[in-house]
Amino acid sequence: MQTTKEYAQLLDSQDPLASFRQEFYIQPGVVYMDGNSLGLLSKRAEQALLDMLESWKQLGIDGWLDGKHPWFYVSEQIGALLAPLAGAAPEEVIAAGSTTVNLHQLAATFYEPQETRTKILASSLDFPTDIYALQSQLRLKGYNPDEHLLLIESRDGRTIWEEDIIAAMNEEVALAILPCILYRSGQVLDMQRLTAAAHERGILIGFDACHSIGAIPHRFSEWGTDFAFWCNYKYINGGPGSTAGLYVNRRHFGRLPGLTGWFGSDKEKQFNMEHTFSKAEGAGAYQLGTPHILSSAPLLGSLELFREAGMDRVRQKSLLLTSYMLQLIRSELHSYGFTVGTPEEEERRGGHVALEHPEAARICKALKQAGVVPDYRAPDIIRLAPAALYTSFADVWAAVAALKEIMEKKQYEAFPNERNVVA
Ligand SMILES: *Cc1c(COP(=O)(O)O)cnc(C)c1O
Repeated sequence: MQTTKEYAQLLDSQDPLASFRQEFYIQPGVVYMDGNSLGLLSKRAEQALLDMLESWKQLGIDGWLDGKHPWFYVSEQIGALLAPLAGAAPEEVIAAGSTTVNLHQLAATFYEPQETRTKILASSLDFPTDIYALQSQLRLKGYNPDEHLLLIESRDGRTIWEEDIIAAMNEEVALAILPCILYRSGQVLDMQRLTAAAHERGILIGFDACHSIGAIPHRFSEWGTDFAFWCNYKYINGGPGSTAGLYVNRRHFGRLPGLTGWFGSDKEKQFNMEHTFSKAEGAGAYQLGTPHILSSAPLLGSLELFREAGMDRVRQKSLLLTSYMLQLIRSELHSYGFTVGTPEEEERRGGHVALEHPEAARICKALKQAGVVPDYRAPDIIRLAPAALYTSFADVWAAVAALKEIMEKKQYEAFPNERNVVA
């Protein structure tokens, strides 16, 4: 009964967020399971971008202070819309830069090596750009990354044990930067516990929320987390290259950002054009140059949808979707050699399901041909991300049904087992 298409339709009929699907552009015949890499366009995001173009068209330079969304305040406005998703006060969050730039900014600010406390703690399963940024921040301060970047090993190749991270938090560690959710397996780290453990040991701690913002709730302020950063083109649906986000806890508002630029100024003073930097009071101080208004605009629309849906309801539906997917995988795909890499426990499971298989690259190609858009991560992971705002239970059912047919008929054998340039 629970494996039938009718059951999926029943779940859809009971879904309080079902109506949000109509807000998005979903191509007919396509089952989109890649919202953790690039979220889909919503009509609200499109409209917000069109509004911004209209201001430019009609107002020219005056768009900075006039029009529907005066450009001068857009980054702060988006910060305030992101704040509830980060569990922070509006002034603790700003839209700015990219994930990588924001990580550089925050590491430049919060990595303050002293005598024997010189190391940065990260994980061996981190996204590469995070590692590259930390390596260069160490080099800039005169330290050899091979000795001063401490990467916590995984015991199973998929997950990182909080105990192992905490055990490595010794008096040589100055700063810890970890993902909220691991990008391959989808494991959620216990951010509250790690924040408390770091602070007990005199270590500052920040999180990469790329895979968690818009997927799970955060309580960064309440936990006392020092800082966080993320991109807005995954679960937040801000569009390719969308302006990113960052959070800085208010107890650090007195600090001077490691990298300063004129858009980090107190807004009243910015256009005094003085050579003495008067920093903004809150997270706004971490901005550098002129904001990417056209890459920020869609966020005004897409974040409205999150405000209406509520992050707790989004998480609730996301867990129902991934639980249902895991249940179908267990009952329909058990004989095809897949391993589920995502933790089963709800509090440790993020927004996607990672399926491991030696033929993963070409299974993904066969899925795409069958109208299901998955996400491949080398060497052997198929990520399936049902996004709570626009993925239906019927989509989850269809994705697993397509996968079953591909495996049963060995349709993947028609493709080479290699990744594409972007995968
Ligand atoms: C997507 C992602 C990034 C991407 O960084 P950009 O600067 O936006 O290219 C970085 N870190 C993690 C963990 C990610 O998932």
